[in-house]
This record gives sequence, C-alpha cells and structure tokens, in this order.
Amino acid sequence: MSGAGPGLPGRALVGFCAGLLHLPDADAAELAVAVDHFSAQLPAATRRALAAGLVAVDAAAVSLGGRRLGALAPDRRDQVLARLDRSPLGDLVEAVKVPVLLVHGARLAGPELAARNAGPAVRPDAALHVVEAAQWPDRRRTDVVVVGSGAGGALVARTVARAGLGTFVVEEGRRWPVEELRQRPALERFAGLYRDAGGTVALGRPPVVLPVGRGVGGTTLVNSGTCYRTPTRVLRRWQADHGLHLADPASFGAHLDAVEELVQVGPVPDAVMGANGRVALRGAAALGWSAHPLRRNAPGCGGCCQCAIGCPRNAKFGVHLNALPDACAAGAVIVSDARVERVLHGAGRASGIRARRPDGSVFEILADHVVVAAGATETPPLLRRSGLGRHPEVGRNLALHPALSAAGWFDEAVDPTTGVLQSAGVDELHRSQRILIEATSTPPGMGSMVLPGTGRLLAAQLERSRHLATLGAMVGDAPAGAVHGRQRPVLTYRLTAGDARRLLQAVVAMGQVLLAAGARQVLTGIPGRPTVSSVAELEQAAASADIRRMHLAAFHPTGTARMGGDPQTHPVDPRGRLRGVAGVTVADASVLPSCPEVNPQLTIMALARAVAEELVGALGG
Ligand SMILES: Cc1cc2nc3c(=O)[nH]c(=O)nc-3n(C[C@H](O)[C@H](O)[C@H](O)COP(=O)(O)OP(=O)(O)OC[C@H]3O[C@@H](n4cnc5c(N)ncnc54)[C@H](O)[C@@H]3O)c2cc1C
Ligand code: SF4
Repeated sequence: MSGAGPGLPGRALVGFCAGLLHLPDADAAELAVAVDHFSAQLPAATRRALAAGLVAVDAAAVSLGGRRLGALAPDRRDQVLARLDRSPLGDLVEAVKVPVLLVHGARLAGPELAARNAGPAVRPDAALHVVEAAQWPDRRRTDVVVVGSGAGGALVARTVARAGLGTFVVEEGRRWPVEELRQRPALERFAGLYRDAGGTVALGRPPVVLPVGRGVGGTTLVNSGTCYRTPTRVLRRWQADHGLHLADPASFGAHLDAVEELVQVGPVPDAVMGANGRVALRGAAALGWSAHPLRRNAPGCGGCCQCAIGCPRNAKFGVHLNALPDACAAGAVIVSDARVERVLHGAGRASGIRARRPDGSVFEILADHVVVAAGATETPPLLRRSGLGRHPEVGRNLALHPALSAAGWFDEAVDPTTGVLQSAGVDELHRSQRILIEATSTPPGMGSMVLPGTGRLLAAQLERSRHLATLGAMVGDAPAGAVHGRQRPVLTYRLTAGDARRLLQAVVAMGQVLLAAGARQVLTGIPGRPTVSSVAELEQAAASADIRRMHLAAFHPTGTARMGGDPQTHPVDPRGRLRGVAGVTVADASVLPSCPEVNPQLTIMALARAVAEELVGALGG
C-alpha cells in the first residue's frame, strides 16, 4: 500500500485490516488509508505506539504463519490472527483493533447518519458574540478574563457579565455551528471536537482512555447530557473533610436548582428511551433493583444517538446554548481559537493573560481578575507555566470516575443506536458500592470495539450488532492520578486495589442486569473470558480477571486543584481563589475536592456559579 504515509507501516496496516475484518485486499487498503489519516490526528506518542503494535503483530504472524499477514491467504490469515489474539500478544491485537474498528464503523455508518440528520434542528444556533483570535487585537483590557468556555467557564462568564463586569472568555477550540454537525462525517466530528482526536490517555496499568472536549462550550459539546445532582452525602463530606462551606447542601441545592432550570433538565421521555435503555430498566426490574430513566438537559431530543460527536439537532442543551449566550447578551465576548499560554501576574497579583493564535502570534488581555476554567487536565499545566503551580497539590488528586462496559446479545434486534445515547440509570449499588450503571450506547458504527475476536468471527458479530445492548458502569474512585508537565500534560493513574475490585463487581452487576433482561450471552470485556452465558460463569470470569488487561475509559476527571479550607492540602481556598496570588480564581472540574460519584456537569456548573457569586460579591458587584 502506498497511501499510509509516514508514521503507520502501510503493509502491516493493510494486512491487519484485511485479517481483522476478513476484508478483500482492495477494501482493506482503502480502510488502511482512512485509519492512517485518522491516526495522524492522534498524539505522536499514541501514533508511535500504534505503529509499533502493527509491526509487532505482523512480525508475530511471520513467526506463526510463515508470512506477513497481508501475504497470507484469507483463511490462513484468519487462523493466524485468531491465534495471536489468544496468545500473550492478544492485548496488542486488541489495542490496535480499537482505531481500526472505530474508523471502519464510522465509515459504514455514514449514509445512516446522513439520513438521521436530514430533519431540521429543534432550535437555531444561539446568538453568541464569538471573535476568532485571528481577528482579535493584540492588546485589550477588561474586568474579568475567563480561560475556557466549558461547564465551569460558561457559568462564571454568565454570572460576572450579568453583574455588569466586562468579561472576555478565551477558548482554545472553535465554534461548531449545528449545520456543520449535521453535514460533517462522524469521524471528522469526533477528531475535531475532542482534544488530540480523543486520544488522551492516563498512563498506568491499565491505561485509561480519557477523552476531553475542546470547543466553544467545552466538553458539554460532546457529553451525553446526563444530569445528576451532587449526592448530599458527597456534599457533607466536602463540608466536613475539606472545609468547603459552599458545599452546604441547602445553599448548594439552590445553585443546583438554578443550573437545572438554566439547562432545562428533565427525565428521558419514553418516546426516545430506545431499546438499550428499556433493556436496562427491564433487567433491573426483574432483579428488583432500583433504576430509572436518566435526567438530561436535552429538551427536544430526537434520540439520534450522536451526543458524543455533537448534537446535530441542537437539542442537547450544552452551555453554548444557554449560559454562554446569556453571558454574551450581557456584554461578554468569546475569543475562540486561542490557547492561553500564561496567566500574567506581578507583585503577587494577576494582571491578565497571554494567549497564542493558531498562526503563532500572541495577544494579551489585561484584567485584574482571571478565572481559570480550562478543565481538570489543562488547568494544572496552565498554572505551572504561569509560575502559579508551586503548591505541591496542584496537579495531584486526579480522580477519574473510571468506567467499564458490558454488552448482551439478544434474540430480538435491540438497535442500540436508536434512542438517546445514555438513557437509563441503575443505581442499586450506588450508595453502598459507589457503582453507577448507565445504559450507554455510542454513535452508530462507533461501538464495535466492544466485540471480541478477529476475522470471520468478528465480521459475523458485526453483522448482528443490532442485537447487542450495551451498558456502562462507573465507580467512585480514590484520587489516584496526577497531571504532570507544563505544556502538553502527561497524565498518570494508579488504580487502587479497592477500586479495581469494585470495577469487576460492576461488570458482574451489568451482566446480571443484561441476563435478567433476557440476554443470551454477555460480552464481559475480560481477556480470556470474553463471553459468558450465566451469572455463575460471569462471577467466575470476574474472579479470575486481571484488571490490568482490561479496557478502562473515563469521562469525568476532577480534583487537580481542589478547593478547601486547609492551605497545606488545597491549592484553592473555599471561595475558589488560588492560594499564593491575588486575583486568580479557579472554577472548573479541577476544584472538586473528590470524585462526585455521579456524572459531574451539574456539580461543576453549580460550584462555578457559587464561586462566581463570591467573586462578584468581593468586587462589590
Ligand atoms: C464523552 C463524554 C461524555 C460525558 N457525559 C457526561 C454526562 O452525560 N453528564 C455529565 O454530567 N458529564 C458528562 N461528561 C463530563 C462533563 O462534560 C465534564 O465533566 C465537564 O464539561 C467539565 O467541565 P470543565 O469546565 O471542567 O471543562 P470543559 O467543559 O472540558 O471545558 C474546558 C475548556 O477549556 C478549554 N481550554 C483548555 N485549555 C485551554 C487554554 N490553555 N486556553 C484556552 N482554552 C483552554 C478547552 O478547550 C475546553 O473547551 C462527559 C464527558 C465526556 C468526555
Ligand atoms: S440523542 Fe443526543 S445527539 Fe441525538 S438529538 Fe438527543 S441529545 Fe441530540
């Protein structure tokens, strides 16, 4: 193959594509070009690892089958790859499989997505005052500059702008009009809406895939829209253990109420629940477990199952459709496509920010108050490169709310991508074990990574994927990770034994729900025991599972600049002010003192709102 370009070894990639999906050579070559194109957007280290994996698998094929994968006859290639998948090299095969299946599935789903997106949006794009950095002057002054336009930044911008303060929001990503989300192929949306094309990973055993959004609206552009209020027990812990007076359940409840009203939270209507959610509710009912339709911020949701690649109907009510337009109506301006490089300060107080445009040029915004809301993975490096990250706890205490998935084969067609992407919650084990199960699908074509095996076996399962229901489970975790570095952060995460145990318990619980709902078989994600047919088999599989070989993902990083009363252990004070400098506030997921044990967007927004009110109060607004 000639088109793989630098980076991925072309022949090995074509051979792998052909073997993995039992494809004719010409189709495999076409797929390989698309995989290579996609991988070019991944972080260089990930691309290098992918290339090394392909080379290693191809070399192993030579040892086992006498030839490289691409040179073997199709049936022989099937055998060789299947044996490699069952060998100690299986983890490598599974790792390389992920991007190939993602690209393959997204390509195949193109026509279906185009058909789904043919109808009108439920609301037009909001009136936002966005100025691209290229059009922004080199120097401006204002009262408050907010770094990041996601869940936290948007709520701060709304509050301070409405208090009459001059407000500029600086955002690294760009604006995504709904028309573009409707027209663009799924893979381009995925690669564009996430930092590093979704390739963020927390290193560890196992590594944890940690996608983070980037754009005007931050991660709320790509999140699932699930809205949980912060559990009262978590708020009490934050009050008692972290001295966080803002977490008083009564006053914090008022912030949650206001946020719920702003983003229009309501339960998933039956009309868009989808069969995936109904499976979860049915299974839970059969077990006598507590379960419910999820509450979401998606008024007018049409159940097209694309939340994770930007809602093509403008139904999901991310902050680009409510808090940010409110802020702009009150005079705020959003500067997009600008990466803030430093918070400027001198003589112990903030004086603004310096940001870089895509062409490399820089501009400054001078302001006495800077609010950092770049998200839990980007706030620590920004503070460090600004000379404000000296507190030893900056970048530490990263909690991830790690997640695993399980899937069930059903006789009837479940059509997991027809309906809301995240639809029903099973909270039976939430209070006792901090395990929260949510019926979670993926955009059409983008969920095939859950299928085990290779070759004909995998291709046959792909044909039947309409019969597969998928659940996800998240575990409230210890703050076992860290964000290192000043520029591009390096993330590490050391899963604790207790959290590993509860993750495996979560797999068993998901399997129980699926089997109780009538699944014939459950896909466990457990290497060596990918498929089971009974609870007893499932428990056995979990008991012998090595969590270090499983595919963990996480979507809720928090805690890397936590707020609290103790100056030794909390870089940010209980009012949201960064310690050690005047005029810098932090208001994003990083300030959460610990994992909130639920999907965190409402908590982040409510805390940001509370912090912004403190700021306005301090400024006499
Ligand atoms: C796939 C997915 C699904 C999710 N689903 C849910 C869900 O259903 N419910 C829920 O409650 N939560 C969900 N979440 C999590 C939730 O969306 C996030 O926790 C929340 O958006 C984080 O808010 P934040 O303000 O901390 O950061 P973000 O919303 O990530 O915003 C940070 C912004 O800062 C910008 N930025 C970063 N660095 C710089 C810089 N140097 N200069 C300028 N700008 C910068 C980023 O580009 C980004 O736009 C999901 C997350 C993912 C990835
Ligand atoms: S399922 Fe998600 S993407 Fe589709 S309309 Fe509803 S909120 Fe939007």
